[in-house]
Amino acid sequence: MSPLTLIENAHVITVDQARRELSAASVLIEGSRIVAIGESPGTLPADALRVDGSGCVLTPGLVNTHHHLYQWITRGLAADHTLFEWLTTLYPIWAGIDEDAVRTAALGGLTQLALSGCTTTTDHHYVFPAEGGDLLGAEIDAARTIGLRFHPTRGSMDLSEKDGGLPPDSVVQPIDEILSASADAVSRWHDAAPDSMLRIALAPCSPFSVTTDLLRESAVLARELGVRMHTHLAESLDENTYCDEHFGCTPLQYMESVGWVGDDVWFAHGIEFDDDEISRLAATSTGVAHCPTSNARLGNRICRTRDLVDAGVPVGLGVDGAASNESCRLLEEAHQAVLMARARGGPTALTTRTAIELATIGGARVLGRAADTGSIEVGKLADLVLWDLSSVAHSGIDDPVAALVLGAIPPVAASWVNGRRIIADGEMRTVDADIVAADVAREHRRLIAKAG
Ligand SMILES: [Zn+2]
Repeated sequence: MSPLTLIENAHVITVDQARRELSAASVLIEGSRIVAIGESPGTLPADALRVDGSGCVLTPGLVNTHHHLYQWITRGLAADHTLFEWLTTLYPIWAGIDEDAVRTAALGGLTQLALSGCTTTTDHHYVFPAEGGDLLGAEIDAARTIGLRFHPTRGSMDLSEKDGGLPPDSVVQPIDEILSASADAVSRWHDAAPDSMLRIALAPCSPFSVTTDLLRESAVLARELGVRMHTHLAESLDENTYCDEHFGCTPLQYMESVGWVGDDVWFAHGIEFDDDEISRLAATSTGVAHCPTSNARLGNRICRTRDLVDAGVPVGLGVDGAASNESCRLLEEAHQAVLMARARGGPTALTTRTAIELATIGGARVLGRAADTGSIEVGKLADLVLWDLSSVAHSGIDDPVAALVLGAIPPVAASWVNGRRIIADGEMRTVDADIVAADVAREHRRLIAKAG
């Protein structure tokens, strides 16, 4: 079979350097890469795949910069709680997860991401109960099944209730065990190649669930191994109070004191930064994963997206875990980012095109993949999404970008990851989504029963 796929007659939003948008254009894929953009290339081998993009918009695949896939089977709990109340309600349930639970949850969460236009995602997994088994292996297996480009993190917690932290004793691990499991995860799975489908990062959970030693030593290990670093930061005012009481400083000052800034670091949320801190994030190219739906769901404040972008901080979008965002549709985060930025900063605070940039090249930059993915350019990996704007929900919306960002979430007609088509005719091609749904419901019931 020919390695060529031609997507024809689509409105192409490239998000390249010139931010070109081409109407009735073609994109040619050969193997895993984009080899031509613009006019139809004329004759192709008879067995090349031709996909008609009429009535559709083609964008770079969206990049998700923050998630907790295991939470897909704990949605809808603690629906009206603050962050700290929500965490203390959920930790005892999360303490029951095992390989089957994590694999099934990841299949559900990744299917939802794919169907909302995501082609690359990270995951922040930080709950490792002693009897849980190989949880990182289980979610990596799920990502290979679904076919998304995957940047899972080896997360960790070592500060439990008895030591003044938030999580119960049963879900934290000793620091030596964490560091050796982290090194092991990198040697088993991390692939640094430009077309890598899988890269590992190290990710202690948050300032209130890990020790200072774990943060320091994780940074040293990550830099020895050449992998990225991720954690939650500046998410809530409760966290500011916690850092002030325990460390006498702000969350970012605390991170700076333990070596946690740089172009190999990205923080989830980043709501509570002041002007000076935003300048320091920019100066160090430290990234931020903006998760507007989760922030609003938990009643936290609104990220200073405009100020971060203007300062030059790398900013991407994240759905965050499904327990604080039951929807987890990545394009919806672009929609929410615009609305919340404008609610905070007025009508010019964030444009629809900036929102698409955050969802694509911005996220790729945050994950260190901007040279490989996040825009439609010749030579880049073929991570592409074809959105169907032909139905009543979108037909007649004047501007295709406004249709994507301000309109309803359109169906994904097709998507490609590394040149492989994982959605065709609006349906997942790598899994049966109905079977995934039934498995998710079963694993949810089993986990809740286990928690009593
Ligand atoms: Zn999170």
